[in-house]
Formats: sequence, structure tokens, C-alpha cells
Amino acid sequence: MSQVAIPAATALLENAKPLQHKAFAGKMFIDGQWKDAASGARFERSSPAHGQVVSSFPEATGEDVEAAIHAADVAFKKGPWPRMKGVERARALLVVAEGIKARVEEMSLLESLETGKPLTQARGEVSGCVDLWQYAASLARTTSGDAYDSLGEDMLGIVLRQPIGVVGLITPWNFPIWILSQKLPFALAAGCTCVIKPSELTSSTTVILAEIIEQAGVPKGVVNVVTGKGPTVGQPLAEHPAIGMLSFTGSTRVGGLLGGIASKQLKKVALELGGKNPQIVFPDCDWDAMVDAVVFGVYFNAGECCNSGSRVLVHESIAEKFAQAVVERAQQVPVGDPLHPDTKIGAIVSENQLGEILANIDKGIAAGARVRLGGKRYDAKGLYLEPTIISDVTPEMSIARDEIFGPVLSIVTFKDVEGAIEIANDSAYGLSAAVWSNDINTCLTVARGVDAGTVWVNTFLDGYPELPFGGFKSSGVGRELGKQAVEDYTETKTIQLHIGARKNWWLPQSTK
Ligand code: NAD
Repeated sequence: MSQVAIPAATALLENAKPLQHKAFAGKMFIDGQWKDAASGARFERSSPAHGQVVSSFPEATGEDVEAAIHAADVAFKKGPWPRMKGVERARALLVVAEGIKARVEEMSLLESLETGKPLTQARGEVSGCVDLWQYAASLARTTSGDAYDSLGEDMLGIVLRQPIGVVGLITPWNFPIWILSQKLPFALAAGCTCVIKPSELTSSTTVILAEIIEQAGVPKGVVNVVTGKGPTVGQPLAEHPAIGMLSFTGSTRVGGLLGGIASKQLKKVALELGGKNPQIVFPDCDWDAMVDAVVFGVYFNAGECCNSGSRVLVHESIAEKFAQAVVERAQQVPVGDPLHPDTKIGAIVSENQLGEILANIDKGIAAGARVRLGGKRYDAKGLYLEPTIISDVTPEMSIARDEIFGPVLSIVTFKDVEGAIEIANDSAYGLSAAVWSNDINTCLTVARGVDAGTVWVNTFLDGYPELPFGGFKSSGVGRELGKQAVEDYTETKTIQLHIGARKNWWLPQSTK
């Protein structure tokens, strides 16, 4: 089968309407006040789909970062937030959840314009955040320490959980408000105060969230937002001695850099990084469900997804049938203006990212892989890439190993279960994986054997606040969500209480 054209995309792209949007002018939120940068500088963000400016923000420098950290430090040391009852913090988080619910449309539109993702999908993400805030509220009331009444008659042990202090939160552009909501409400539930640095490409919804938090009555200095570039804002945040913990989601490259800074200073660090996630397909699977999930798994968010199922390992006996089926399905996925209700794949976030994806495809072709679908930029206004499927990929090719972060599927074959697990684990990453089979033994063997923080069995990309999320190996350090999500933002303190008279270690002769 040779490479084929992609009919589904063109109509939606050709008929895209000019954008009518008044640019959002954001400010920073520091110590309960809306601020410009000390330098007065601002930067703009253009929609990757429309090429028009959709938002602008203060361009912070170290001076602004310092002010935000100072505010958070004072709020932590002297303010009411860490000292409040859990129930009071929970109530505030629930008010924030309602505030998000009330502004879903406004936030989704900005998320779609800044990222290039379909508006319909952005709505799902923003509304989904409500659940994260509500779940964190439940943990604000139920997270507790421990007591040990088993240490003997004269001893009682109490383990307290105390908020870690000021937390620095650095977030990426691909799911801006969702990823922030995997961190912020849990840090707040613990009683921490925070300084947030959103991606410079997608800062709007973080700023709006700060408005919602202000309106919810969260005391000043508890949540601070500083906007600007990574090296000038993110790095000083990571380096600052008053930051007790750094929670970062983004690339493995920057995560490694920040992890190094944090560990040199012996501060706690949580890293959610990249992935090259295998979907492992056996011949006995439910075929239609698998084909749909493979196409969804790689084209959701245009593949700009840490969990993207960008690497499919398929049993060699069905490799050709599989390639034809996914090509046929992928051809029909509507690519187009993110604001059109029928669009499933929108624009790529930036010219730079588009260039990197194309360079990765070229590397695959040079190594001998075959482009079965797409592989090129659309001849249209905006940053659009054809959904791409590449077969004849072998495990050592860069296209099977590197995170491409675009709508590009690499198909690798395997011979048996052990071989599939070996290929799956021959990766620097270990974020997630999926197995497709109707044999429970195959499913469990793969699920147990793969190096991945999440394994989906006969499904893909589901997620729940109750279930921990994070990666093995270069995919990160630590876990978000789950019942321990709030604990991660705490320190334990052990208190040992002696009961009754204490036996002396030594008595001087004179007192005997
Ligand atoms: P990125 O690492 O370029 O940027 C992430 C954040 O770090 C941004 O806010 C950026 O401004 C900041 N930053 C950049 N350089 C910095 C520096 N020197 N010091 C401090 N901060 C700096 O990542 P990105 O391009 O925004 O996001 C894509 C990456 O994120 C992908 O690799 C993806 O896999 C990863 N990601 C991981 C998860 C996960 O949960 N595991 C989720 C989403 C995205």
C-alpha cells in the first residue's frame, strides 16, 4: 500500500473564517494585587491557527519573581491559610470549582486560541478541572497524619503532616489549565502557598484562574502568578531558597535542568515529563475499538500530549491489515479551524514545534521507514500538519525512540508477548502504555511487565482524580493525583510523647 491523500481535512481548512476576537490583556497576580512587570515590558501570543494576536501579558524578570516569592513566603509564615481548618480550605476550593464552572466558555475559547486545539476539546478539559478542584477539596478534609499506640506503655507516637511551605509550579502549553489543576488545588489543600509560572504560549487561563481564586476569598499572597519566559522567570523560581518544593510539568530536557538545580539545593522536586508511549496490539483484540483508540491516542490534542500513543507495537501477523485500517480511519479525521465544531485535530502550537515534528519525520524517512499517510504541512493559512502514519519502523530508529509531540504514529512489529514487552521497555521513557487483547493472561503479563506509570487495558487515555499519574524513568519523578496527592505537598513531623516516669540513662554515684 502506498501513501494516500487526506480528504477530510481540506474542506474545514479552506472554509475557515477570519477570527473576530479582542485580545485578552492579562496582568500578573502578586500579593493579592494585579500588576504589570517592574520593567513595564509585555509580550504577545498569536493564535497558531489564525496568526492573530489573541493575548498579551507582562514580561516578568527576576525582580517580579522575587516579589511573588516574598508574598508567598509571608503568606505562609504569617498568613491564615496554612493555619486554617481543613474544612475552611476545602470550602474555598469548592468555591473555586464553581467559579471555573461559571467561566468554562471564556476559558475554553482562550485555551483553544492559544494552543490551537479544538474548542470542543478545550471545553471538556476546562469543565474537567472542576472535578480536580472538588476532589482536592475532599482531600483537604481527609488528609491526616498517623498515631502509633503500639510503642509500649510509656510511649505514644504521633506523625503530623505539615504543609511544605512555598511551592513553585511551572506548567507547559499543551493542557495549561488542566495540568495546573493537577497541582495547585492539592498544594492549597495541604496549606501551602504558591508561585505559578505558566507557559509563555498559554498564560490566559492561569491568569483567569487567579481572578477566580481572588473572588473565592483566598487570602492575599497564597496564590501568585508570574508571566514570562522559562529562563528569566522559571529558573529564578526554581533557584530561590525560599521555594520549599518545585513541581514542574514539561519537557525532559528542562525537567532535568530544574531537577538538578532543586537537588543541589536539597529541595523537594516533582517532575512530570515526556513519553513515547506504546500501545501493544495483539491479533485477538476487539478490532474496531482498538483502531479507534489508536487513531484517538495519537491525534488527540494533535499528538501534543505527554501520553500520546505515538508508538504502536503490533503483532507481525496483522501488521499490514493494521496499517491499512488505521490509515483508512485517520484519513477521515477532520483537521481544521479549532473553532469549528466538527474539528478533531487543530493547529500545531508554534512554528518551532511544527519544524521539529517535520524534522523527526524526515529522520524516520532517512532511516528507512515508510510514510503511509500525511507527513507534510498543509498548504493553508495557520500551522497545520497532516495526520501522519509511518510503518516499517524498527526499535532503534529515532522515530521509535524520541518524543515527537505531534500527530505522527510509528508502527513497529513484534513476534510474541516477551518480545513486545522488551521493545516497549527499550525506551528512555516510561509514562504510559496500553495493551489490546481479549486474553486476560496476555493483558496481565503485559501490564505487569511494561515500565509505565499507567497501563490501559483495552482502552486509552482515560483518567480519574482518584488514580495516581506519573512516569517511570525519564518520564518523571513522583506522582500527581490519587489519595496521596496532598501528602506530596507536606512534610511529616514525628512527635514522641513519653508517658509516666522516664528511666534514667545513668545516675551519678552521689544520687544513688
Ligand atoms: P518546556 O519544558 O519547554 O516548558 C515547560 C515550562 O517550563 C514552561 O512554562 C516554560 O516556560 C518553562 N521553562 C522553559 N525553559 C525553562 C528554564 N530554563 N527554566 C525554567 N523553566 C523553563 O515544555 P513544553 O514545550 O511547554 O511542553 C511540552 C513538554 O511537556 C513535552 O515534553 C511533554 O511530554 C511534557 N508534558 C508532560 C506531561 C506529564 O504529565 N508527564 C504533561 C504535559 C506535558
